[in-house]
Amino acid sequence: MARTKLYTRLLALAAAGALAAAVSDPRAFAAGKLAVMTATTDLAALAQEVGGDKVEVESVARGYQDPHFVEAKPSFLLKLRRADLLIVVGLELEIGWLPPLISQSTNPRIQVGAPGYFDASRYAKILEIPTGAVTRAEGDVHPQGNPHYWLNPENGLRIAKAIADKFTEMRPGDAAYFAARYAAFEQKLKQADQQWQAQMKPYAGRKIVTYHRSWPNFAEHFRLDVVGYVEPRPGIPPSPQHTVELIGQMKRDNIKVIVVEPYFDLKTPNAIARETGGQVVVLMPSVGGEKEITDYFKLFDYDISKLKQALDSTK
Ligand SMILES: [Zn+2]
Repeated sequence: MARTKLYTRLLALAAAGALAAAVSDPRAFAAGKLAVMTATTDLAALAQEVGGDKVEVESVARGYQDPHFVEAKPSFLLKLRRADLLIVVGLELEIGWLPPLISQSTNPRIQVGAPGYFDASRYAKILEIPTGAVTRAEGDVHPQGNPHYWLNPENGLRIAKAIADKFTEMRPGDAAYFAARYAAFEQKLKQADQQWQAQMKPYAGRKIVTYHRSWPNFAEHFRLDVVGYVEPRPGIPPSPQHTVELIGQMKRDNIKVIVVEPYFDLKTPNAIARETGGQVVVLMPSVGGEKEITDYFKLFDYDISKLKQALDSTK
């Protein structure tokens, strides 16, 4: 008797739950889309490329936020709670903000180590992996190698392939769809990259300075030489002594371009530019950093165009 009553109540609860899910997102429910959350917009852009209309993708971080220090809105908890897959940058990029969200979501599918937890860094070429012991106690926010690896189209392609494979594993019935989406993305990206390479060719070997170590993968791919940083170490704000040394180095080596990410204070970069006759250029490290950067292709279009202007006007 009691058992039947419990069973009836459970049925009612399950029906209510299904109804709530359908009401909160009728499209996703009806189409059985994979609910994908990503830590950053770049991963969302890549997931969207290969997932097409079989997935619903949203990023926790916004493209104009410093990905090391994101203040996530509590509304993301609900979205994480119902996610089938969570894609992260890894290498401790999100260590300051994502782990509490994951645990508070109480979603077993996306906990670290679960099948729905996907660390994109495992599929990318990682630069600046420390050889000695580096701890975050020294303030270095890149203790496992450089986490800004998506800024090389070759890594974008590797990540997209891995995500397509993951989608296929989760939805084997859509394998052909994901394979076709990936093939189209690969072709389009390789064509775009040929144009980007041609645009950057005249500047091969040019020395530049950047605020944070966001650009080693970008610089390697487009053959720029990053020789100094406004930050003394990744995550450590500029210090007067370091700034004086950097100005001296830039004057000695005739370095004129200072690349800054949109979320850093321009005071020190502007002062360095004044002292050296150089130029500050704000590049976007992520999709969505500016309204017009709506996908992975437009990210490189935007950055290369801005960078070319700066390199041209400081010859
Ligand atoms: Zn960083």
